[in-house]
Amino acid sequence: MRVAMIGTGYVGLVSGACFADFGHVVTCIDKDPSKIERLERGEIPIYEPGLDDLVAANVREGRLFFTLDGAEAIRRADAVFIAVGTPTRRGDGHADLSYVHAAAEEIAGLIEGFTVVVTKSTVPVGTGDEVEAIIRKTNPKADFAVVSNPEFLREGAAIGDFKRPDRVVIGIDDMTGDAGGRAQKVMSELYRPLNLNESPLLFVGRRTSELIKYAANAFLAMKITFINEMADLCEAVGADVQQVARGIGLDKRIGSKFLHAGPGYGGSCFPKDTIALVRTAQQYGAPTKLIEATVEVNDARKKAMADRVAATLGASVQGKTVALLGLTFKPNTDDMRDAPSLDIAPALIAAGATVQAFDPEGMHEAAKLLPDIQMKDSAYDAVVGADAVVLVTEWDQFRALDLDRIKLLMKQPVLVDLRNIYRPEDMKHRGFRYMGIGRG
Ligand code: NAD
Repeated sequence: MRVAMIGTGYVGLVSGACFADFGHVVTCIDKDPSKIERLERGEIPIYEPGLDDLVAANVREGRLFFTLDGAEAIRRADAVFIAVGTPTRRGDGHADLSYVHAAAEEIAGLIEGFTVVVTKSTVPVGTGDEVEAIIRKTNPKADFAVVSNPEFLREGAAIGDFKRPDRVVIGIDDMTGDAGGRAQKVMSELYRPLNLNESPLLFVGRRTSELIKYAANAFLAMKITFINEMADLCEAVGADVQQVARGIGLDKRIGSKFLHAGPGYGGSCFPKDTIALVRTAQQYGAPTKLIEATVEVNDARKKAMADRVAATLGASVQGKTVALLGLTFKPNTDDMRDAPSLDIAPALIAAGATVQAFDPEGMHEAAKLLPDIQMKDSAYDAVVGADAVVLVTEWDQFRALDLDRIKLLMKQPVLVDLRNIYRPEDMKHRGFRYMGIGRG
C-alpha cells in the first residue's frame, strides 16, 4: 500500500516508520522545514527509543520518504493519514481543529482514484463528518472515504505500542456501503501484519471510534487522579499508598497499571484530551462530572507540589536552592508539553528559590519553556549546594544514584521524591530527610 502521512511529529513519524516497516511505502509530510531537513540528513527530531534505527533501516530499503511538499505522495496514496496536532484551543478548552481542517483542504484538491482519508489525530466526535464535508465541498467528484483510526501509543514505548497494540480501533461509517467496504479492505490490508501478533482490529462507527480515544484517555487520567487522592488520604491517616495500590491492583477488575501516585498527570495528551472531552460533553448536554473533577483535582495537585517542597524544608523555600531531577512529563521522551515541572519550577522561583535542574533528554526543550532555571550537565552537578532535591521524573538513571555522593554535594540532605522510587527507611538510614508521596 502507498501511505501519505501528514504531520511528522511524535505520532506521524512513529506511525509512518512502523507502516514502512510493515512493508508499505510511506511518505511523511511536514510543513516544518527544519524537521524535514533533519530527517533527510538522517537525524531524528524527537527522542524516542529505537526510532533512529527503524527510520534508517526503512529509508535504506526505499520504503520511507520525507517531504515538505506532499502533493505527489497524496495523489498516489491509497491512504492519507492526518497526524497533525490538536492542541487546546485558546480561551475555551475545546480541541483546536485548525490544523486538521487545513490538512483536509490540502488533501481535497489532490486525491486521485479511491483514497481513504484517515484521522489519526485525536479529534472530537463529529470531526470525521467535518473532514468529509471539507473534501466533498472542495472536490465534489472525489472518490474517498473518511476513517477514524485513533492512536494509543505511549511516548517512550511508542514503537512497541504501535507494533504490538492491545487493539487497533477503526471507525468507518456505512461499512456495508461501497466506499465503506472498500475503506475497510484498505485498513485491513494496512494493519495485516498485526494479525501475526493477534492484535484485534476493532471496526466500529466513526463517531464511536472518535469517542473511544477520549474515553480511554479520560479513564486513565481518572485512575491516576484517583490514586493521587488516595495518596493524600494515606498521608492524613498514616497508610502507605503503594501498598494500597498493590492491594487494589491485584484485583483483576481494577488492574495494577496507572496506580502510581505522583505529582499529577501531564504530557501531550491527558491534559488537553480531558478538557476537550469535558467541553464536548457540555456542548451535547451530557456533562461528564467525573472528568470535570479529574481536571480540577489534577490542576490543583500540580500547583501544590511546590508547597510540598516548602513544607519539607520547614515552611519556606525563600533564599533556598532547589535541584529538580527530571523535567519531561515522563521518562524516555524529550516531550515537555504540560509537564508537571512547568508548574513546579515557576512556583518555586516565585516563592524565592533558586532552581537548578538536570534532565537526560528534555533540557533543550525545557530551556525554552523554563528560562529562569539553571540547566546542569548531570544529576550530580544539579544537586551541588542544594537545600533540597526534588525527583520529578523517574528516569532509570535516577533510580540508582550514588546517594552518599549526592549527600556530600548538597548543602543539606533533603529529598522530595515525587515518584516514590526510593524507600523511606533506606533514606532515613542514609541520613536524608525524605518526603515521598502518600507514604505516611
Ligand atoms: P506533534 O506536534 O509532535 O506533531 C504534529 C506535526 O504536524 C508537527 O510536526 C507539525 O509541523 C505538523 N503539521 C501541522 N499541520 C500540518 C500540515 N498541514 N501539513 C503538514 N504537517 C503539518 O503532535 P503529536 O504528539 O504527534 O500528536 C499528533 C496527534 O496525535 C494529536 O492529535 C495528539 O493528540 C495525537 N496523539 C498523540 C500521542 C502522543 O503520545 N504524542 C499519542 C496518541 C495520540
